[in-house]
Amino acid sequence: MRILKFGGTSLSNVKKFLIVEEIIKDKIKHEQISIVLSAPEKITNYLVESIKTAITKKRLIQLNFIENIIKKFLSELEKTLPSKILEKLKEEINAEILKLKDLLQTVSLLEKCPKNLNATIISRGEIFSIFIMNAILKSKGYQITIINPIKTLIGIGDYLNATIDINLSKNKIKKLKIPKKNVILMPGFIAGNKEKKLVALGRNGSDYSAAILSVCLEARYCEIWTDVDGVFTADPKIVKDAKLLNFLTYSEAMELSYLGAKVLHPKTISPLAKFNIPCLIKNTLNKNASGTIIKNFSKENSPTVKGVTSLDDITMFSISGLEKKEIHNLTGRIFSKISQKELSPILILQNSSNGNLDFCISDNETEKTFEVLKNELFTELKNKLIHPIKIIKNTSIVSIIGNKFQLKKNIYLNLFLGLQKNNVNILAISKNLSQNSISIVIKKCDVIETIQNIHSALFNQNYKIIEVFLVGIGGVGSTLLNQLKKQQKILQHKNIDIKICSISNSKKTIFNEKGIVLNNWMKEFENSKNTFSLEDLLKKIKSNKFINPVFIDCTSSEKIAEKYVDILSHHMHIVASNKKANTSCNKLYRNIRLITKKYDLKFLYETNIGAGLPVIENFQNLINSGDKLIQFRGILSGSLSFIFGKLEQGISLSKATMMAKELGFTEPNPQDDLLGIDVARKLLILAREAGYDLELSDIEIDSLLPKEFNLNLNTKDFFLELKKIDTQFLNRILEAKKENKILRFVGIIEKNGKCKVKIEKIEKSDPLYSIKNGENALAFYTKYYQPNPLVLKGYGAGNNVTAAGVFSDLLRTLSYNLGT
Ligand code: ADP
Ligand code: ASP
Ligand code: MG
Repeated sequence: MRILKFGGTSLSNVKKFLIVEEIIKDKIKHEQISIVLSAPEKITNYLVESIKTAITKKRLIQLNFIENIIKKFLSELEKTLPSKILEKLKEEINAEILKLKDLLQTVSLLEKCPKNLNATIISRGEIFSIFIMNAILKSKGYQITIINPIKTLIGIGDYLNATIDINLSKNKIKKLKIPKKNVILMPGFIAGNKEKKLVALGRNGSDYSAAILSVCLEARYCEIWTDVDGVFTADPKIVKDAKLLNFLTYSEAMELSYLGAKVLHPKTISPLAKFNIPCLIKNTLNKNASGTIIKNFSKENSPTVKGVTSLDDITMFSISGLEKKEIHNLTGRIFSKISQKELSPILILQNSSNGNLDFCISDNETEKTFEVLKNELFTELKNKLIHPIKIIKNTSIVSIIGNKFQLKKNIYLNLFLGLQKNNVNILAISKNLSQNSISIVIKKCDVIETIQNIHSALFNQNYKIIEVFLVGIGGVGSTLLNQLKKQQKILQHKNIDIKICSISNSKKTIFNEKGIVLNNWMKEFENSKNTFSLEDLLKKIKSNKFINPVFIDCTSSEKIAEKYVDILSHHMHIVASNKKANTSCNKLYRNIRLITKKYDLKFLYETNIGAGLPVIENFQNLINSGDKLIQFRGILSGSLSFIFGKLEQGISLSKATMMAKELGFTEPNPQDDLLGIDVARKLLILAREAGYDLELSDIEIDSLLPKEFNLNLNTKDFFLELKKIDTQFLNRILEAKKENKILRFVGIIEKNGKCKVKIEKIEKSDPLYSIKNGENALAFYTKYYQPNPLVLKGYGAGNNVTAAGVFSDLLRTLSYNLGT
């Protein structure tokens, strides 16, 4: 015998019922099977709502939803069922809907819903499922026996949250004479009490029904069919990269479900474990996936972490100010009263040394619990022997589940690393005595981000995800996308998954939280009708809860740079080839550093100077290791390096500039290069790194263009105007030549921090003498490096090297050693 339970997610439409039938057809070839069914998806929720609506005497709107779902089922079934079976099904369902309306009418008249009526109403969905499945199976020629759980499963306790007496139920089921060839059908979620009245087993309780039926029928297996491939290390709807757990022990599965993994009802595993029946979790829409198997594994459990879960809608009660010696006595009194009222605390934390007792309870038990506490502690409260009871609503319990945590010390380290990521406020923390779970209580609004961060800290130590939000798709940005496309697969083999979640320029944007396919991003971008707004992008980032988002700025926009503090406050790193943030006012410069420090984020801008040359990181390392800059001299502009190299060969200034433009070395408007502002910006960045508190206006610029040069020309006229100063320039070059020197455009930081950008005559022994063809050279004269400076040289412009520099900054956000 094998029990197969199908949840609401597997029964949301006729197509899915037919998939279930195929699974049955497959399984029945090997052994007899029993099918336990939940209500079609959403129906139980609507039924719960319909009770609330009936009580408040609004119209029975919610029933319309249910009737519509049923109508849809019946119309889809017209193609599948012979008319006789279909007619019978319609009669059964209509009768049930009439009954339901009657019940809701009674609730409406009573203005309240007694628990017995409530249980009957909310379990109608299961009855619909049985009617539909019975009709489908009949039409396919199956022999069927329907078990009525009200008569056979004996429920004890609350009408809405009953527990089943296994022995009594087993006796009843044994008495049923079920032919061996029949498929057994049973509605989940319900049982009958001793008075044969319907009781419900608690929300999600069909899993429990299946477990009980497995025990009663002595099944070899209990299979729970749902909408995910099995039990994951976290709810896959919350953690996108949660990992499937192929094996779980009974106790691990019990702990996971008790502490919130909705995939299994918490009461399911205990009866299966008691009778040693393995449980298999399978995906109805992916039936060939192996699933998760839960049983007793003979091997000793090694120290492991199995998953992260959460229980939401929790209230935390805090009783404080107790006398040390009183606390045990009081704890006993409180919890015996709480259990008498059938209230079930989920987590209890007692601190005898400071007279504190905290416990958590489900939100819907808050009022009752408060009543119990007020009565029980009446004297203490009246005489001010304890502080007023503190109630914190809307909290969640986040738990890590596994084995032998005492042997796995880095669990605590990783837990706190995860928690630190979103600076979450921890209200309470507890570990259970058997060392197989740790729980923390936090505000509910923090729960999703907290689960994601803890999960990533615990499970993604070797697997890194970067979510990229790129702004700017000019030369550098689009080259970067090409490089990313080429490397994506290779990096995946190194456990680095780079997802490009948005690509934008100043006008348009494309966004895909799962990652844009880079093969045809350009076409997708061209076709996009979505206008770009940074605010909208940040909103999306906030609501999608990414794991490791990185904002890449390949624009030269001042407006975007001004928003860096805002961007960083969304907990994303920034990688920028844009220099504007580092060269605008000191206030922004400092605020960016403050916020990166506060949230432990990275702001990387290696390409701001020398494109792909490793300038900033090396310079920062020098300063951090105690070195001090004495003087700096450098050729910091690829375009000017190219132009001055050409001048040396006798080519005129205007021609050399034109050549540089054609090769893509210059800014779109070449006058920006010739004015020397770009070099001044780079010099400012270096000076600030060296610790000088300067503004751009403090840099003295001796521009290549004379003061009277008209700066408001279009490109064509600009070149005509430039031609006019060719001779003047030629003369300067010849003059230098007479002294055996050449001209270079140099950025200088003097010993006193004074910064200058100017054309210098350079002699052969100078490290900057041979720099041309777009190369950059940076000579650092420091306390450690003198009299010979530390010289970094190489191509300092061009889309390929700059994009590669941005790419390597992107990888540095992981602080990850790529190895070989
Ligand atoms: P069914 O209708 O089949 O009973 P449920 O919605 O009750 O389905 O349970 C399945 C859902 O449980 C999944 O869709 C998933 O979102 C959620 N879930 C929560 N935690 C986990 C987990 N650790 N592993 C797998 N699924 C989980
Ligand atoms: N239909 C019930 C619910 O939604 C029982 C179940 O699905 O297991 O809670
Ligand atoms: Mg369920």
